[in-house]
Amino acid sequence: MTGRLRGVGVSAGVVIGPVAVMAGAIPEPSMEGPTASTTEAEVAAAATALEAVATDLEARGAAAGGDARDVLEAQALMVRDPGLAERVAQLAGEGRGAARAVWESFGEYRELLAGAGEYMAARVADLDDLRGRVVARLLGVPVPGVPDPGHPFVLVARDLAPADTATLDPATVLAFVTEEGGPTSHTAILAKSLGVPAVVGCAGATGLGDGTTVIVDGAAGLVVPNPSKEEVAEAERRAAARTATRGAALAARGPGATADGHRVGLLANIGGPAEVAAAVAAGAEGVGLFRTEFLFLDRQTPPTVAEQQAAYQEVVAGFPGGKVVVRTLDAGADKPLAFLSPRDEPNPALGQRGLRAVRRIPEVLADQLEAVGRAAAAGAGSGTEVWVMAPMVATAAEAGWFCAQARRQPIARAGVMVEIPAAALTAPALLGTADFASIGTNDLAQYAFAADRLVGELAGFQDPWQPALLRLVAMVGEAGLRAEKPVGVCGEAAADPLLALVLVGLGVTSLSMAPAALADVRLLLGRHTLEACRGLAQLALEADDPEQARARVRETATGAGDLGL
Ligand code: PEP
Ligand code: MG
Repeated sequence: MTGRLRGVGVSAGVVIGPVAVMAGAIPEPSMEGPTASTTEAEVAAAATALEAVATDLEARGAAAGGDARDVLEAQALMVRDPGLAERVAQLAGEGRGAARAVWESFGEYRELLAGAGEYMAARVADLDDLRGRVVARLLGVPVPGVPDPGHPFVLVARDLAPADTATLDPATVLAFVTEEGGPTSHTAILAKSLGVPAVVGCAGATGLGDGTTVIVDGAAGLVVPNPSKEEVAEAERRAAARTATRGAALAARGPGATADGHRVGLLANIGGPAEVAAAVAAGAEGVGLFRTEFLFLDRQTPPTVAEQQAAYQEVVAGFPGGKVVVRTLDAGADKPLAFLSPRDEPNPALGQRGLRAVRRIPEVLADQLEAVGRAAAAGAGSGTEVWVMAPMVATAAEAGWFCAQARRQPIARAGVMVEIPAAALTAPALLGTADFASIGTNDLAQYAFAADRLVGELAGFQDPWQPALLRLVAMVGEAGLRAEKPVGVCGEAAADPLLALVLVGLGVTSLSMAPAALADVRLLLGRHTLEACRGLAQLALEADDPEQARARVRETATGAGDLGL
Protein backbone atom coordinates (compact mmCIF):
# COMPACT_ATOMS: atom_id res chain seq x y z
CA MET A 1 0.00 0.00 0.00
CA THR A 2 1.46 3.37 -0.95
CA GLY A 3 -1.46 5.82 -1.01
CA ARG A 4 -1.85 8.42 1.71
CA LEU A 5 -4.46 7.68 4.34
CA ARG A 6 -6.64 10.40 5.72
CA GLY A 7 -8.41 10.45 9.07
CA VAL A 8 -9.11 13.01 11.76
CA GLY A 9 -6.06 14.47 13.50
CA VAL A 10 -6.71 14.51 17.24
CA SER A 11 -3.28 15.09 18.77
CA ALA A 12 -0.69 17.28 17.06
CA GLY A 13 2.86 16.34 16.17
CA VAL A 14 4.77 14.70 13.33
CA VAL A 15 6.65 11.41 13.60
CA ILE A 16 8.25 8.90 11.27
CA GLY A 17 8.38 5.26 12.31
CA PRO A 18 7.59 1.63 11.59
CA VAL A 19 4.04 0.37 11.90
CA ALA A 20 3.01 -2.35 14.33
CA VAL A 21 -0.58 -3.44 13.87
CA MET A 22 -2.56 -4.57 16.89
CA ALA A 23 -4.13 -7.93 16.13
CA GLY A 24 -7.75 -8.61 16.98
CA ALA A 25 -8.84 -11.14 19.62
CA ILE A 26 -7.96 -14.78 18.97
CA PRO A 27 -11.04 -16.77 17.97
CA GLU A 28 -11.82 -19.75 20.19
CA PRO A 29 -10.32 -22.85 18.48
CA SER A 30 -12.97 -25.34 17.40
CA MET A 31 -13.72 -28.54 19.33
CA GLU A 32 -12.85 -30.73 16.40
CA GLY A 33 -9.83 -32.91 16.85
CA PRO A 34 -6.76 -33.05 14.63
CA THR A 35 -7.60 -33.81 11.04
CA ALA A 36 -4.38 -33.73 9.08
CA SER A 37 -2.31 -34.69 12.07
CA THR A 38 -1.88 -37.49 14.59
CA THR A 39 -2.58 -37.18 18.31
CA GLU A 40 1.14 -37.46 19.03
CA ALA A 41 1.90 -34.65 16.61
CA GLU A 42 -0.68 -32.40 18.30
CA VAL A 43 0.77 -33.15 21.75
CA ALA A 44 4.25 -32.31 20.43
CA ALA A 45 3.06 -29.13 18.69
CA ALA A 46 1.43 -27.91 21.91
CA ALA A 47 4.59 -28.59 23.92
CA THR A 48 6.75 -26.80 21.34
CA ALA A 49 4.46 -23.76 21.32
CA LEU A 50 4.43 -23.54 25.13
CA GLU A 51 8.21 -23.70 25.27
CA ALA A 52 8.62 -21.17 22.44
CA VAL A 53 6.38 -18.67 24.24
CA ALA A 54 8.26 -19.17 27.52
CA THR A 55 11.62 -18.66 25.79
CA ASP A 56 10.31 -15.55 24.04
CA LEU A 57 9.09 -14.09 27.35
CA GLU A 58 12.49 -14.69 28.94
CA ALA A 59 14.29 -13.08 26.02
CA ARG A 60 12.05 -10.01 26.26
CA GLY A 61 12.65 -9.88 30.00
CA ALA A 62 16.40 -10.04 29.55
CA ALA A 63 16.25 -7.24 26.96
CA ALA A 64 14.03 -5.04 29.15
CA GLY A 65 15.79 -5.63 32.50
CA GLY A 66 14.58 -4.25 35.85
CA ASP A 67 11.06 -4.94 37.11
CA ALA A 68 9.91 -5.98 33.65
CA ARG A 69 12.37 -8.87 33.68
CA ASP A 70 10.92 -10.19 36.95
CA VAL A 71 7.37 -9.93 35.61
CA LEU A 72 8.20 -11.64 32.32
CA GLU A 73 10.21 -14.39 33.99
CA ALA A 74 7.27 -15.09 36.31
CA GLN A 75 5.05 -15.34 33.23
CA ALA A 76 7.48 -17.74 31.58
CA LEU A 77 7.25 -19.90 34.71
CA MET A 78 3.45 -19.95 34.40
CA VAL A 79 3.72 -21.17 30.80
CA ARG A 80 6.23 -23.83 31.84
CA ASP A 81 4.04 -25.09 34.70
CA PRO A 82 4.30 -28.92 34.54
CA GLY A 83 0.65 -29.29 35.57
CA LEU A 84 -0.40 -27.19 32.59
CA ALA A 85 1.74 -29.20 30.17
CA GLU A 86 0.30 -32.43 31.56
CA ARG A 87 -3.28 -31.25 31.16
CA VAL A 88 -2.62 -30.04 27.61
CA ALA A 89 -1.10 -33.41 26.70
CA GLN A 90 -4.04 -35.21 28.29
CA LEU A 91 -6.63 -33.20 26.35
CA ALA A 92 -4.69 -33.56 23.10
CA GLY A 93 -4.44 -37.27 23.84
CA GLU A 94 -8.23 -37.38 24.07
CA GLY A 95 -8.41 -36.16 20.47
CA ARG A 96 -8.43 -32.37 20.70
CA GLY A 97 -6.30 -30.27 18.37
CA ALA A 98 -3.26 -28.66 20.02
CA ALA A 99 -4.79 -25.15 19.98
CA ARG A 100 -8.04 -26.40 21.51
CA ALA A 101 -6.18 -28.37 24.19
CA VAL A 102 -4.16 -25.30 25.16
CA TRP A 103 -7.29 -23.13 25.15
CA GLU A 104 -9.18 -25.45 27.48
CA SER A 105 -6.26 -26.05 29.84
CA PHE A 106 -5.64 -22.35 30.35
CA GLY A 107 -9.40 -21.98 30.72
CA GLU A 108 -9.42 -24.34 33.69
CA TYR A 109 -6.64 -22.37 35.42
CA ARG A 110 -8.47 -19.21 34.59
CA GLU A 111 -11.59 -20.36 36.41
CA LEU A 112 -9.58 -21.35 39.46
CA LEU A 113 -7.91 -17.93 39.62
CA ALA A 114 -11.06 -15.97 38.93
CA GLY A 115 -12.73 -17.60 41.93
CA ALA A 116 -9.78 -17.10 44.28
CA GLY A 117 -10.24 -13.55 45.47
CA GLU A 118 -9.51 -10.11 44.11
CA TYR A 119 -5.71 -10.30 43.90
CA MET A 120 -5.67 -13.62 42.06
CA ALA A 121 -8.50 -12.48 39.81
CA ALA A 122 -6.20 -9.74 38.58
CA ARG A 123 -3.87 -12.46 37.26
CA VAL A 124 -6.64 -13.67 34.95
CA ALA A 125 -5.72 -10.98 32.44
CA ASP A 126 -2.11 -12.24 32.48
CA LEU A 127 -3.32 -15.76 31.89
CA ASP A 128 -5.50 -14.67 28.98
CA ASP A 129 -2.53 -12.89 27.47
CA LEU A 130 -0.38 -16.01 27.75
CA ARG A 131 -3.10 -18.23 26.33
CA GLY A 132 -3.47 -15.84 23.40
CA ARG A 133 0.28 -16.00 22.72
CA VAL A 134 0.42 -19.81 22.70
CA VAL A 135 -2.77 -20.28 20.68
CA ALA A 136 -1.75 -17.57 18.16
CA ARG A 137 1.52 -19.40 17.61
CA LEU A 138 -0.30 -22.69 17.03
CA LEU A 139 -2.81 -21.15 14.65
CA GLY A 140 -0.16 -19.09 12.86
CA VAL A 141 -2.00 -15.80 13.50
CA PRO A 142 -0.65 -12.57 15.08
CA VAL A 143 -0.60 -12.32 18.87
CA PRO A 144 -3.56 -10.21 20.12
CA GLY A 145 -3.16 -7.03 22.14
CA VAL A 146 -0.69 -4.17 21.89
CA PRO A 147 2.27 -5.45 19.88
CA ASP A 148 5.76 -5.42 21.31
CA PRO A 149 8.17 -5.40 18.37
CA GLY A 150 11.11 -4.51 20.61
CA HIS A 151 11.63 -1.01 19.18
CA PRO A 152 9.62 2.25 19.05
CA PHE A 153 6.63 1.96 16.72
CA VAL A 154 3.49 3.57 15.36
CA LEU A 155 0.58 1.67 16.91
CA VAL A 156 -2.11 0.91 14.34
CA ALA A 157 -5.39 -0.66 15.48
CA ARG A 158 -9.04 -0.89 14.56
CA ASP A 159 -9.72 0.86 17.85
CA LEU A 160 -8.16 1.02 21.30
CA ALA A 161 -9.99 0.30 24.53
CA PRO A 162 -8.71 1.27 27.99
CA ALA A 163 -7.95 -2.42 28.65
CA ASP A 164 -5.67 -2.54 25.60
CA THR A 165 -3.63 0.45 26.62
CA ALA A 166 -3.43 -0.08 30.39
CA THR A 167 -0.03 -1.78 30.09
CA LEU A 168 1.22 0.31 27.20
CA ASP A 169 4.75 1.63 27.52
CA PRO A 170 4.43 5.26 26.40
CA ALA A 171 8.17 5.44 25.73
CA THR A 172 7.87 3.02 22.81
CA VAL A 173 4.70 4.30 21.13
CA LEU A 174 5.54 7.04 18.63
CA ALA A 175 1.96 7.67 17.49
CA PHE A 176 -1.54 6.16 17.39
CA VAL A 177 -3.52 5.50 14.22
CA THR A 178 -6.96 3.88 14.48
CA GLU A 179 -9.54 2.99 11.85
CA GLU A 180 -12.40 3.61 14.23
CA GLY A 181 -12.91 6.10 17.04
CA GLY A 182 -13.62 9.77 16.75
CA PRO A 183 -12.19 12.92 18.32
CA THR A 184 -13.79 12.01 21.65
CA SER A 185 -12.63 8.38 21.67
CA HIS A 186 -10.36 6.77 24.24
CA THR A 187 -7.50 6.86 21.70
CA ALA A 188 -7.84 10.61 21.27
CA ILE A 189 -7.93 11.24 25.01
CA LEU A 190 -4.97 8.97 25.70
CA ALA A 191 -2.87 10.41 22.87
CA LYS A 192 -3.45 13.94 24.12
CA SER A 193 -2.53 13.04 27.66
CA LEU A 194 0.66 11.30 26.51
CA GLY A 195 1.43 14.10 24.06
CA VAL A 196 1.89 11.75 21.09
CA PRO A 197 0.47 12.39 17.62
CA ALA A 198 -2.75 10.55 16.77
CA VAL A 199 -5.04 10.08 13.80
CA VAL A 200 -8.44 8.41 14.29
CA GLY A 201 -11.18 7.36 11.89
CA CYS A 202 -8.43 6.46 9.41
CA ALA A 203 -9.94 3.98 6.95
CA GLY A 204 -7.55 1.33 5.63
CA ALA A 205 -4.93 1.80 8.36
CA THR A 206 -4.95 -1.84 9.51
CA GLY A 207 -4.08 -2.82 5.94
CA LEU A 208 -0.60 -1.37 6.50
CA GLY A 209 1.92 -4.15 6.90
CA ASP A 210 3.95 -4.52 10.09
CA GLY A 211 7.23 -2.66 9.72
CA THR A 212 5.99 -0.28 6.98
CA THR A 213 7.56 3.14 7.49
CA VAL A 214 4.95 5.87 7.83
CA ILE A 215 4.83 9.57 8.55
CA VAL A 216 2.01 10.38 10.96
CA ASP A 217 0.82 13.97 10.97
CA GLY A 218 -1.42 14.21 14.01
CA ALA A 219 -2.52 17.75 13.27
CA ALA A 220 -3.54 17.28 9.64
CA GLY A 221 -4.91 13.76 10.22
CA LEU A 222 -2.61 12.28 7.58
CA VAL A 223 -0.67 9.00 7.37
CA VAL A 224 1.92 8.71 4.60
CA PRO A 225 3.16 5.13 4.01
CA ASN A 226 6.61 4.55 2.44
CA PRO A 227 7.46 8.24 2.26
CA SER A 228 9.98 9.62 -0.24
CA LYS A 229 13.32 11.03 0.94
CA GLU A 230 11.96 14.54 0.50
CA GLU A 231 8.86 13.77 2.54
CA VAL A 232 10.98 12.29 5.32
CA ALA A 233 13.29 15.32 5.33
CA GLU A 234 10.29 17.68 5.53
CA ALA A 235 8.71 15.66 8.35
CA GLU A 236 12.01 15.62 10.26
CA ARG A 237 12.30 19.37 9.87
CA ARG A 238 8.80 19.89 11.22
CA ALA A 239 9.32 17.47 14.10
CA ALA A 240 12.57 19.24 15.07
CA ALA A 241 10.89 22.65 14.90
CA ARG A 242 8.13 21.39 17.16
CA THR A 243 10.58 19.98 19.69
CA ALA A 244 12.52 23.24 19.78
CA THR A 245 9.38 25.35 20.19
CA ARG A 246 7.59 23.09 22.65
CA GLY A 247 10.24 23.53 25.35
CA ALA A 248 9.40 27.20 25.73
CA ALA A 249 5.69 26.59 25.23
CA LEU A 250 5.52 24.04 28.02
CA ALA A 251 7.22 26.40 30.44
CA ALA A 252 4.95 29.37 29.64
CA ARG A 253 2.48 30.39 32.36
CA GLY A 254 0.14 33.25 33.18
CA PRO A 255 -3.26 34.24 31.89
CA GLY A 256 -4.00 33.37 28.28
CA ALA A 257 -4.14 36.31 25.90
CA THR A 258 -3.77 37.25 22.26
CA ALA A 259 -0.68 39.17 21.08
CA ASP A 260 -2.54 42.45 21.67
CA GLY A 261 -3.58 41.51 25.19
CA HIS A 262 -7.16 40.39 24.61
CA ARG A 263 -7.83 37.95 27.46
CA VAL A 264 -8.80 34.39 26.66
CA GLY A 265 -9.15 32.11 29.68
CA LEU A 266 -7.17 28.89 29.24
CA LEU A 267 -8.85 26.24 31.33
CA ALA A 268 -8.79 22.49 31.85
CA ASN A 269 -11.38 19.78 31.31
CA ILE A 270 -11.35 17.37 34.21
CA GLY A 271 -13.37 14.33 35.25
CA GLY A 272 -12.62 14.31 38.99
CA PRO A 273 -10.30 15.53 41.76
CA ALA A 274 -7.57 13.10 40.68
CA GLU A 275 -7.00 15.18 37.55
CA VAL A 276 -6.46 18.50 39.32
CA ALA A 277 -2.71 18.10 39.78
CA ALA A 278 -2.08 17.57 36.05
CA ALA A 279 -4.22 20.60 35.20
CA VAL A 280 -2.34 22.82 37.67
CA ALA A 281 1.01 21.49 36.43
CA ALA A 282 0.05 22.33 32.85
CA GLY A 283 -0.70 25.94 33.82
CA ALA A 284 -4.50 25.84 33.62
CA GLU A 285 -6.08 29.02 34.99
CA GLY A 286 -8.94 26.97 36.30
CA VAL A 287 -11.45 24.36 35.17
CA GLY A 288 -13.73 25.11 32.26
CA LEU A 289 -15.53 21.77 32.36
CA PHE A 290 -15.74 19.65 35.48
CA ARG A 291 -17.55 16.49 34.37
CA THR A 292 -19.31 15.23 37.50
CA GLU A 293 -20.62 11.90 36.15
CA PHE A 294 -17.81 9.98 37.91
CA LEU A 295 -19.70 10.42 41.19
CA PHE A 296 -22.86 8.90 39.79
CA LEU A 297 -21.69 6.06 37.55
CA ASP A 298 -21.96 2.41 38.62
CA ARG A 299 -24.39 3.24 41.43
CA GLN A 300 -27.96 2.32 42.14
CA THR A 301 -28.66 5.55 44.05
CA PRO A 302 -27.28 9.08 43.72
CA PRO A 303 -24.37 10.20 45.93
CA THR A 304 -25.25 12.25 49.03
CA VAL A 305 -24.84 16.02 49.20
CA ALA A 306 -21.91 15.61 51.61
CA GLU A 307 -20.18 13.13 49.34
CA GLN A 308 -20.54 15.44 46.37
CA GLN A 309 -19.50 18.49 48.34
CA ALA A 310 -16.24 16.79 49.36
CA ALA A 311 -15.35 16.03 45.74
CA TYR A 312 -16.25 19.51 44.47
CA GLN A 313 -14.40 21.19 47.30
CA GLU A 314 -11.26 19.23 46.49
CA VAL A 315 -11.30 20.54 42.94
CA VAL A 316 -12.16 24.10 44.00
CA ALA A 317 -9.23 24.08 46.45
CA GLY A 318 -6.86 23.31 43.57
CA PHE A 319 -7.42 26.70 41.93
CA PRO A 320 -7.15 29.52 44.47
CA GLY A 321 -8.00 32.78 42.72
CA GLY A 322 -9.13 30.84 39.64
CA LYS A 323 -12.43 29.66 38.23
CA VAL A 324 -14.10 26.25 38.36
CA VAL A 325 -17.07 25.55 36.09
CA VAL A 326 -19.03 22.56 37.38
CA ARG A 327 -21.27 20.85 34.90
CA THR A 328 -24.31 19.25 36.45
CA LEU A 329 -24.98 15.60 35.80
CA ASP A 330 -25.03 14.67 32.12
CA ALA A 331 -26.75 11.28 32.23
CA GLY A 332 -28.14 9.31 29.31
CA ALA A 333 -27.01 8.14 25.86
CA ASP A 334 -23.23 7.56 26.09
CA LYS A 335 -23.40 8.02 29.91
CA PRO A 336 -26.36 5.85 31.09
CA LEU A 337 -27.22 5.80 34.79
CA ALA A 338 -29.10 3.00 36.53
CA PHE A 339 -31.36 5.24 38.59
CA LEU A 340 -32.01 7.95 36.03
CA SER A 341 -31.92 6.68 32.45
CA PRO A 342 -35.05 4.97 31.08
CA ARG A 343 -34.20 1.42 29.95
CA ASP A 344 -36.49 1.19 26.97
CA GLU A 345 -35.76 4.32 24.95
CA PRO A 346 -35.62 3.61 21.23
CA ASN A 347 -32.94 6.25 20.67
CA PRO A 348 -31.25 7.36 23.91
CA ALA A 349 -29.13 10.06 22.23
CA LEU A 350 -32.37 11.80 21.34
CA GLY A 351 -34.12 10.88 24.55
CA GLN A 352 -34.04 11.69 28.24
CA ARG A 353 -30.48 12.90 28.65
CA GLY A 354 -28.60 15.79 30.23
CA LEU A 355 -30.82 18.44 31.76
CA ARG A 356 -33.98 16.67 30.54
CA ALA A 357 -33.11 13.56 32.52
CA VAL A 358 -32.58 15.39 35.82
CA ARG A 359 -35.73 17.44 35.37
CA ARG A 360 -37.65 14.20 35.70
CA ILE A 361 -36.12 13.67 39.15
CA PRO A 362 -35.60 17.25 40.36
CA GLU A 363 -34.21 16.26 43.77
CA VAL A 364 -31.10 14.87 42.05
CA LEU A 365 -30.38 18.28 40.59
CA ALA A 366 -31.36 20.10 43.78
CA ASP A 367 -28.90 17.99 45.80
CA GLN A 368 -26.14 18.55 43.29
CA LEU A 369 -26.66 22.30 43.21
CA GLU A 370 -26.67 22.39 46.99
CA ALA A 371 -23.35 20.52 47.05
CA VAL A 372 -21.86 22.89 44.48
CA GLY A 373 -23.14 25.86 46.50
CA ARG A 374 -21.50 24.56 49.65
CA ALA A 375 -18.20 23.96 47.83
CA ALA A 376 -18.42 27.47 46.38
CA ALA A 377 -18.97 28.98 49.82
CA ALA A 378 -16.01 27.03 51.19
CA GLY A 379 -13.75 28.16 48.32
CA ALA A 380 -14.76 31.82 48.46
CA GLY A 381 -12.10 32.56 51.07
CA SER A 382 -9.31 31.66 48.67
CA GLY A 383 -10.84 33.68 45.88
CA THR A 384 -12.02 30.79 43.71
CA GLU A 385 -15.10 31.54 41.63
CA VAL A 386 -17.45 28.62 41.17
CA TRP A 387 -19.77 28.63 38.17
CA VAL A 388 -22.33 25.99 37.29
CA MET A 389 -23.78 24.96 33.94
CA ALA A 390 -26.34 22.50 32.63
CA PRO A 391 -25.65 20.08 29.78
CA MET A 392 -27.91 19.47 26.77
CA VAL A 393 -30.05 22.58 27.03
CA ALA A 394 -32.34 22.98 24.01
CA THR A 395 -34.52 26.02 24.70
CA ALA A 396 -34.51 29.36 26.46
CA ALA A 397 -37.24 28.03 28.76
CA GLU A 398 -34.97 25.20 29.90
CA ALA A 399 -32.12 27.69 30.40
CA GLY A 400 -34.40 29.89 32.50
CA TRP A 401 -35.58 26.97 34.61
CA PHE A 402 -32.05 25.73 35.30
CA CYS A 403 -30.64 29.15 36.13
CA ALA A 404 -33.50 29.79 38.55
CA GLN A 405 -32.61 26.57 40.40
CA ALA A 406 -28.90 27.38 40.46
CA ARG A 407 -29.45 30.93 41.73
CA ARG A 408 -30.92 29.57 44.94
CA GLN A 409 -27.36 28.68 45.87
CA PRO A 410 -24.31 30.89 46.53
CA ILE A 411 -22.89 30.12 43.09
CA ALA A 412 -21.22 33.00 41.21
CA ARG A 413 -22.74 32.37 37.78
CA ALA A 414 -25.32 30.05 36.26
CA GLY A 415 -24.96 29.11 32.62
CA VAL A 416 -25.78 26.61 29.91
CA MET A 417 -23.93 24.35 27.56
CA VAL A 418 -24.66 24.80 23.90
CA GLU A 419 -24.61 21.28 22.48
CA ILE A 420 -27.83 21.17 20.48
CA PRO A 421 -28.24 23.18 17.26
CA ALA A 422 -31.53 24.62 18.59
CA ALA A 423 -29.60 26.19 21.45
CA ALA A 424 -27.04 27.73 19.08
CA LEU A 425 -29.79 29.09 16.83
CA THR A 426 -31.51 30.75 19.80
CA ALA A 427 -28.34 31.77 21.64
CA PRO A 428 -29.50 35.41 22.13
CA ALA A 429 -32.59 34.16 23.98
CA LEU A 430 -30.58 31.69 26.07
CA LEU A 431 -28.13 34.40 27.03
CA GLY A 432 -31.09 36.56 27.99
CA THR A 433 -31.33 34.49 31.16
CA ALA A 434 -28.08 32.55 31.46
CA ASP A 435 -24.97 34.32 32.75
CA PHE A 436 -22.71 32.51 30.28
CA ALA A 437 -22.63 29.80 27.62
CA SER A 438 -20.12 27.04 27.06
CA ILE A 439 -20.13 25.30 23.69
CA GLY A 440 -19.80 21.53 23.76
CA THR A 441 -18.57 20.96 20.23
CA ASN A 442 -18.56 17.15 20.62
CA ASP A 443 -22.31 16.90 21.01
CA LEU A 444 -22.99 19.97 18.89
CA ALA A 445 -21.29 18.17 15.97
CA GLN A 446 -23.16 14.95 16.74
CA TYR A 447 -26.53 16.69 16.59
CA ALA A 448 -25.73 19.08 13.77
CA PHE A 449 -24.62 16.24 11.48
CA ALA A 450 -26.97 13.55 12.83
CA ALA A 451 -23.83 11.41 13.23
CA ASP A 452 -23.24 9.34 16.37
CA ARG A 453 -20.04 10.58 18.02
CA LEU A 454 -19.10 7.02 19.01
CA VAL A 455 -19.21 5.57 15.50
CA GLY A 456 -15.71 5.62 14.04
CA GLU A 457 -16.87 5.41 10.45
CA LEU A 458 -18.65 8.73 10.95
CA ALA A 459 -15.60 10.44 12.49
CA GLY A 460 -15.39 12.88 9.59
CA PHE A 461 -18.61 14.49 10.79
CA GLN A 462 -17.03 15.00 14.21
CA ASP A 463 -14.21 16.99 12.63
CA PRO A 464 -14.53 20.32 14.44
CA TRP A 465 -13.27 22.14 11.32
CA GLN A 466 -16.56 21.41 9.58
CA PRO A 467 -17.75 24.81 8.35
CA ALA A 468 -21.35 24.05 9.43
CA LEU A 469 -20.21 23.51 13.01
CA LEU A 470 -18.17 26.71 12.90
CA ARG A 471 -21.23 28.64 11.76
CA LEU A 472 -23.15 27.44 14.79
CA VAL A 473 -20.23 28.48 17.02
CA ALA A 474 -20.21 31.87 15.30
CA MET A 475 -23.88 32.40 16.19
CA VAL A 476 -23.19 31.79 19.85
CA GLY A 477 -20.02 33.92 19.82
CA GLU A 478 -21.92 36.80 18.29
CA ALA A 479 -24.75 36.47 20.80
CA GLY A 480 -22.19 36.52 23.61
CA LEU A 481 -20.54 39.69 22.29
CA ARG A 482 -23.91 41.43 21.97
CA ALA A 483 -25.05 40.38 25.43
CA GLU A 484 -21.56 41.05 26.85
CA LYS A 485 -21.57 37.62 28.41
CA PRO A 486 -18.78 35.02 28.34
CA VAL A 487 -18.90 32.23 25.77
CA GLY A 488 -16.45 29.37 26.25
CA VAL A 489 -15.70 26.26 24.25
CA CYS A 490 -15.16 23.07 26.22
CA GLY A 491 -15.47 20.42 23.50
CA GLU A 492 -12.44 18.84 21.85
CA ALA A 493 -12.34 21.68 19.30
CA ALA A 494 -10.67 23.92 21.88
CA ALA A 495 -7.64 21.62 22.07
CA ASP A 496 -6.64 22.18 18.43
CA PRO A 497 -4.24 25.16 18.49
CA LEU A 498 -5.12 26.42 15.00
CA LEU A 499 -8.82 26.00 15.58
CA ALA A 500 -8.48 27.78 18.93
CA LEU A 501 -7.48 30.91 16.97
CA VAL A 502 -10.58 30.57 14.82
CA LEU A 503 -12.81 30.13 17.88
CA VAL A 504 -11.40 33.28 19.47
CA GLY A 505 -12.03 35.08 16.19
CA LEU A 506 -15.64 33.90 16.36
CA GLY A 507 -16.12 35.60 19.72
CA VAL A 508 -15.22 32.81 22.13
CA THR A 509 -13.81 34.18 25.39
CA SER A 510 -12.34 31.06 27.04
CA LEU A 511 -11.05 27.67 25.91
CA SER A 512 -11.17 24.55 28.03
CA MET A 513 -9.28 21.42 27.06
CA ALA A 514 -7.24 18.41 28.13
CA PRO A 515 -4.33 19.89 30.15
CA ALA A 516 -1.70 18.49 27.75
CA ALA A 517 -3.11 20.66 24.97
CA LEU A 518 -2.77 23.97 26.85
CA ALA A 519 0.87 24.73 25.93
CA ASP A 520 0.37 24.77 22.14
CA VAL A 521 -2.84 26.76 22.36
CA ARG A 522 -1.28 29.34 24.68
CA LEU A 523 1.74 29.76 22.42
CA LEU A 524 -0.14 30.20 19.17
CA LEU A 525 -2.71 32.52 20.74
CA GLY A 526 0.08 34.77 21.99
CA ARG A 527 1.33 35.15 18.43
CA HIS A 528 -1.93 36.51 16.99
CA THR A 529 -3.89 39.65 17.59
CA LEU A 530 -7.66 39.50 18.03
CA GLU A 531 -7.99 41.05 14.58
CA ALA A 532 -5.80 38.32 13.08
CA CYS A 533 -7.97 35.68 14.78
CA ARG A 534 -11.05 37.27 13.24
CA GLY A 535 -9.42 37.09 9.80
CA LEU A 536 -8.62 33.40 10.30
CA ALA A 537 -12.18 32.75 11.46
CA GLN A 538 -13.49 34.28 8.27
CA LEU A 539 -11.23 32.05 6.18
CA ALA A 540 -12.47 28.94 7.98
CA LEU A 541 -16.14 29.93 7.76
CA GLU A 542 -15.90 30.46 4.01
CA ALA A 543 -14.17 27.15 3.28
CA ASP A 544 -15.98 24.38 1.43
CA ASP A 545 -14.93 21.57 3.73
CA PRO A 546 -12.88 20.87 6.89
CA GLU A 547 -9.65 20.12 4.99
CA GLN A 548 -9.80 23.40 3.12
CA ALA A 549 -10.68 25.31 6.28
CA ARG A 550 -7.71 23.91 8.15
CA ALA A 551 -5.29 24.30 5.23
CA ARG A 552 -6.22 27.95 4.74
CA VAL A 553 -5.83 28.77 8.41
CA ARG A 554 -2.57 26.85 8.65
CA GLU A 555 -1.09 28.73 5.69
CA THR A 556 -2.09 32.10 7.07
CA ALA A 557 -1.44 31.67 10.81
CA THR A 558 1.91 32.74 12.23
CA GLY A 559 4.15 30.07 13.71
CA ALA A 560 2.07 27.02 12.81
CA GLY A 561 5.22 25.52 11.26
CA ASP A 562 7.17 25.99 14.49
CA LEU A 563 4.72 23.69 16.22
CA GLY A 564 4.84 21.14 13.41
CA LEU A 565 1.16 21.82 12.66
C1 PEP B 1 -19.29 18.17 24.46
O1 PEP B 1 -20.31 17.55 24.14
O2 PEP B 1 -18.59 18.82 23.65
C2 PEP B 1 -18.85 18.17 25.86
C3 PEP B 1 -17.84 18.92 26.24
O3 PEP B 1 -19.48 17.32 26.72
P1 PEP B 1 -19.22 15.74 26.77
O4 PEP B 1 -18.06 15.44 25.89
O5 PEP B 1 -18.97 15.40 28.20
O6 PEP B 1 -20.52 15.20 26.26
MG1 MG C 1 -21.67 16.89 25.67
